[in-house]
Amino acid sequence: MVEKRDYYEVLGVTREASVVEIKKVYRKIAIKNHPDRNPGDEEAVNRFKEASEAYDVLGNPDKKAKYDRYGHAGLGAGGGGSPFHDVGDIFEAFGDIFGFGGGRKSGRSRGPVRGDHLQTTMELDLLEAAFGCKKTITIKRHKLCDTCNGSGAKPGSSPETCDYCQGAGQVVQSQGLFRMQTPCPNCGGEGTVIADKCTTCWGAGFENEEVELDATIPAGVDNGMQLCLRGEGNPGKGGGPRGDLYVQIDVKDHPLFQREGIHLICRVPITFSQAALGTEIEIPLLDGKKKLKIPAGTQPHDMIRLAGLGITDPQTRRTGDLHVELHVEVPKKMNEEQERLLRELAEHDHVNVGHKRKSFWEHVKELIHWENDEEIQEEEN
Ligand SMILES: [Zn+2]
Ligand SMILES: [Zn+2]
Repeated sequence: MVEKRDYYEVLGVTREASVVEIKKVYRKIAIKNHPDRNPGDEEAVNRFKEASEAYDVLGNPDKKAKYDRYGHAGLGAGGGGSPFHDVGDIFEAFGDIFGFGGGRKSGRSRGPVRGDHLQTTMELDLLEAAFGCKKTITIKRHKLCDTCNGSGAKPGSSPETCDYCQGAGQVVQSQGLFRMQTPCPNCGGEGTVIADKCTTCWGAGFENEEVELDATIPAGVDNGMQLCLRGEGNPGKGGGPRGDLYVQIDVKDHPLFQREGIHLICRVPITFSQAALGTEIEIPLLDGKKKLKIPAGTQPHDMIRLAGLGITDPQTRRTGDLHVELHVEVPKKMNEEQERLLRELAEHDHVNVGHKRKSFWEHVKELIHWENDEEIQEEEN
């Protein structure tokens, strides 16, 4: 057996040192050699343990007096063996010195605990999202057991304090060099055990229920937004409040409108002649329709912005715009008359080459040196 070092030597204090001084010195050594600060350092852990053992004696006037008189032999049968099995015991004994409280000694009051938050997803179509709506949400959650009122114990009996953790619910274990606080394996972190279980919920304290909740969805919600229904989660423990229910919004795609935040984009098809000559068409809105003037000479993918016809942001109250993208359609099938007219138009185009087209082909000639100049001529015609 290794000879025990003198406790005064371990802490580096004189026999005349006061308890206050001893505590101060121990704190310094303990913090410096704290296992969490020195992962993997066996030496530091040993110094930590040794100092703690010394402090356990010298910090206690009774034990100190015995030690002063009889040395290690004065401290009981084992010749003053370590009172600590592991680092966890030290934390429990002197935790207050490090500022994180003791475990077993201080205990932990198992006051009311708020219930779990729950989450669900709600699918909305674009109109519901844009204008808001009322929806019924069906969720599964817990409800307190009616028989035992949530205690889990048979009526007439009540849960008892867990022997293993003394009601703390947590146990401190050192695994290798690390100190870990884990839920008590005996009571599962509850701090209490139920000897006589309620026969309705078998000790759980709750039952499952399916409920329908009415939710008001504000106008303007978008994908990824979350609504919170306060107090609609699982019931709390020990009289604690219910958790909340978070509703994730999922807006379905709309066949006509594409949404970009608060703005809407609607692609409207117009014919070639409508684009060229200009016209008035009817376009859809989220909540109806509207007449829209198409100016003569409209180009494919030209956009017309209709301010204030988008979606209102529920937070900023800003309203977006509706962007009408004009999609000029080239006819795929034509009757004889249409074809004849178009050919006539083509004859015209042949003579009156449009300004833009002319400059385009001029650019081509400048930028690309096609080998056969005649090809360009052909394209141009
Ligand atoms: Zn019950
Ligand atoms: Zn326990």
